[in-house]
Amino acid sequence: PARPLQGKVALVTGASSGIGAATAEALAAAGAAVAIGARRRDRLDELAGRLRGDGATVLQLDLDVTDEQACADAVARTRAELGGLDVLVNNAGVMLLGTIVGADPEDWRRMMSTNVLGLMYMTHAAIEGMVEQGSGDVVNISSVAGRVARKGAGVYNASKWAVNAFSESLRQEVTGRGVRIGLVEPGAVTTELTDHITQPAAKEASRKAHASMTALTADDIARAVVYMVSQPAHVAVNEMLVRPTDQE
Ligand code: NDP
Repeated sequence: PARPLQGKVALVTGASSGIGAATAEALAAAGAAVAIGARRRDRLDELAGRLRGDGATVLQLDLDVTDEQACADAVARTRAELGGLDVLVNNAGVMLLGTIVGADPEDWRRMMSTNVLGLMYMTHAAIEGMVEQGSGDVVNISSVAGRVARKGAGVYNASKWAVNAFSESLRQEVTGRGVRIGLVEPGAVTTELTDHITQPAAKEASRKAHASMTALTADDIARAVVYMVSQPAHVAVNEMLVRPTDQE
């Protein structure tokens, strides 16, 4: 079908840029009503305007995923104002690459509180309702960095390893009750992700690595998410590792 998600409600975290924005757009194009959450309200305004212009139903959420109450409120508002919650895309994340030796532990706190605890708070808020309704998708945006550890990425690796372990454990817990847990693991995607790196050498290395290949676009990952959540109820696509063809 052209609009496989017609009648569904999706919530995307970190929807103000990059993969999250592209995913919200792709889910809306597939027919879903979308709740879009992030901290930068101006960027969400812009996206919401564009999606509404295309005829989509959009709910804008002020959301900092490191705030447990804000996560609970985001899920509650989505259910109240859009009539349910079928698809949660846990996409919000930061990648503050750098060596462990000499690192600023503030980078570590930001990564673990956003990529790990934030994803857990959102999942915690959403999962009970999905289990009760006997259906739903939680899609967690992990990374190649959740599969392959490298020097200079230690704590980012640790955060995405945590995402993968949490996802597989939760999958076993809820899959018998009709709720699907999926992992999407992108390789290099051109987004704003590297802009926030605080260690100058790591930032430069990351930019160079991206420039050395034909990196993916955010749309390339959005299509993977839509594929995952558009399957018939008995098909669970548990994991998708998507790299640029020329990424080693
Ligand atoms: P961007 O920096 O473009 O997007 C990150 C998004 O996360 C933004 O919308 C940002 O919104 C949001 N975000 C960050 N912190 C918070 C927070 N505390 N609360 C709510 N939202 C937050 O990067 P990408 O699109 O590349 O990143 C999206 C995901 O994809 C991340 O989980 C990343 O680890 C993963 N990924 C990316 C890859 C790449 O090469 N780009 C490769 C593999 C995985 P705001 O600042 O407005 O809150």
